Amino acid sequence: MKVKNIKSFIEFYKNLEITTSITNTVRKKNTRSLYQSLVINKSEKVPFIEEDNQNSSKQKKLETLKSYIGDINCDLKDIATNLVFSDGNIDSEIMLIGEAPGAEEDRKGKPFVGEAGKLLDKMLSLIELKREKNFYVTNILYWRPPGNRTPNSKEISLCLESTLEHIRIINPKLLILVGGIAAKSLLNSKDGITKLRGKNHYYCYDDNQSKVHTRAIFHPAYLLRNPIEKKRMWDDLLEIDNLISKNNIKR
Ligand code: URA
Repeated sequence: MKVKNIKSFIEFYKNLEITTSITNTVRKKNTRSLYQSLVINKSEKVPFIEEDNQNSSKQKKLETLKSYIGDINCDLKDIATNLVFSDGNIDSEIMLIGEAPGAEEDRKGKPFVGEAGKLLDKMLSLIELKREKNFYVTNILYWRPPGNRTPNSKEISLCLESTLEHIRIINPKLLILVGGIAAKSLLNSKDGITKLRGKNHYYCYDDNQSKVHTRAIFHPAYLLRNPIEKKRMWDDLLEIDNLISKNNIKR
């Protein structure tokens, strides 16, 4: 098949919003693990860490992580336009994690820039959170699932290791999990968002040494479909605002 034909074949699938993925049997396996790539980075970063340039070392780790993610063996890559990595201030103490990019995010290569993202920014600005200043945002999945369908468990588990590393690198004091998929995956819970929201949780690193304050909130796309739930979202925002002040989390 000529390249032109493969492209139009994929376009055709995209337009139909077919959710079955293309088989991955022909794609070669990842040749390096995330651990390996970060070990490589560890030895590279020594000269940087010694200097007072912690920020550049964080930036470097994020670049390594992004390049590792680019090699993940995930079928969604075949039909996505862009890998959607993150946005916001990398030095923030507040990190948001959503579900997966939508159409606008796929086009622009940035998370939460579509209608739902605009609503999210507007709501967070009510408690003085702005992505260019005091929060960092990413998603559980780095590519758009066709037709914005819910990510499946295989896709989530392929990306989860990178998300855990992403959290380690940003090292937030508060994690805000946006929607049920992010909340269930990172709190390791079977409960839905209606049960997980409105409560204080802790995200635990796998060394079990440190815990991060965590809140789960409704996904803004859900609020666009169910505006009546904005009242409960407002209650959650006030509690988050309170938690930030009480724990001296930087805004
Ligand atoms: N929904 C998400 O969960 N993430 C985005 O980036 C956009 C929409």
